[in-house]
Amino acid sequence: MKKPTVITILGATGSIGLNTLDVIGRHPDDFQLFAVTAHSRIDELLSICKRFQPLYAVVGSQAAAETLQTKLQEQHIATEVLFGEAALVDVSEASEVDTVMAAIVGAAGLLPTLAAVKAGKRVLLANKEALVMSGQLFIDAVRESNAQLLPVDSEHNAIFQALPTAVQHNSVSTDFAAHGIAKILLTGSGGPFRETPLADLATQTPAAACAHPNWDMGQKISVDSATMMNKGLEYIEARWLFNCQPQHIEVVLHPQSVIHSMVQYVDGSVIAQLGQPDMRTPIAYCLGYPERLASGVANLDFANMGALTFGQADAARYPCLQLAIDACWHGQAATTALNAANEIAVAAFLQGNIQFGDIAKICESVLTQADMPAITSIEAVLDCDANARRIARSLIPRGQ
Ligand code: NDP
Ligand code: MG
Repeated sequence: MKKPTVITILGATGSIGLNTLDVIGRHPDDFQLFAVTAHSRIDELLSICKRFQPLYAVVGSQAAAETLQTKLQEQHIATEVLFGEAALVDVSEASEVDTVMAAIVGAAGLLPTLAAVKAGKRVLLANKEALVMSGQLFIDAVRESNAQLLPVDSEHNAIFQALPTAVQHNSVSTDFAAHGIAKILLTGSGGPFRETPLADLATQTPAAACAHPNWDMGQKISVDSATMMNKGLEYIEARWLFNCQPQHIEVVLHPQSVIHSMVQYVDGSVIAQLGQPDMRTPIAYCLGYPERLASGVANLDFANMGALTFGQADAARYPCLQLAIDACWHGQAATTALNAANEIAVAAFLQGNIQFGDIAKICESVLTQADMPAITSIEAVLDCDANARRIARSLIPRGQ
């Protein structure tokens, strides 16, 4: 019998984390949970520990760790609870671990994800912000350690699936010309405000921004989808994951989210991956790669699907998308600063401290005001990130 894959799930209590556990739960003999991590949703983590009995659980603070450890002991569950950033790194690079699901949201995921990469793990990358922040350094680490990077993000997973097998083995070094690849077509639905009158956009509420028409996701990525900053971050993510030049990526609006992205070849062929808007499909693909695992996702119903439509993203409606594309080719400091500014602005928007329309304005101002030094170390990434956050906070009323 095949040895089970030993896996750590970073961000187990989130939307991606819970979907990963759902798929793993369908294949109990194939996976063994080494560690699960959360930040503050301790009761969620307790339920996960009860069901999956991981060796370790990691939380954000000592107090949360003590609370969880006591509850686990009361229920005779042997999981050991750790806390803090160093513990996140430890459970990512531990020698027993084969695979790390990187599903912490935002910059907090950078160091543990990078630790998994440096330790040469199979890394299932959901945390796009880590790659946006550290780009070349991250990819250099993948090349040096021979880690296997598998994209969980549905678009990048679709692109990965549509690439030739020879390219999949080392997608971070994709040679477009050698494999007859013309370009990547990155699809995006346009989010909940695709048809909202432009005059009403600036004042949309957090609840409306989080109500994505097709996908059920965490709050931060839902707001990013409404601004299309998510597509911008994905553009930067694609650039690094597939070794792209500017002519190699095009964003295509596709409101139905049935096609998850495509690869166009020089002979005119376009290969697309289709599926339900359910993250369990790309997650199962990454968990099983190169084999296919059942994911619990229903088949597409072509008989009743209706029309699939395509278009172009409107620059006036989605200023964040263009900011991200410009930052992508400007350099590492620009994408790091943009990501930091966006995290601060989105958090302030969710807390009701700024308007929807201010997110793009804050990101743009930070890009204008921040220093743009050459970045050659993770310390420099973290400095640039901290500096951009300072500037972004200074632009938010009530000092958020
Ligand atoms: P969620 O907000 O649902 O979950 C985030 C996870 O990260 C939770 O487990 C949370 O813990 C943990 N976390 C939050 N802050 C910290 C911190 N400071 N330190 C350690 N852990 C932390 O996010 P999603 O699951 O939606 O997204 C996760 C990542 O995957 C993001 O980078 C997103 O862009 C990407 N992604 C998500 C998709 C989706 O469909 N959801 C699709 C494609 C990519 P706690 O629960 O305790 O707060
Ligand atoms: Mg995506």
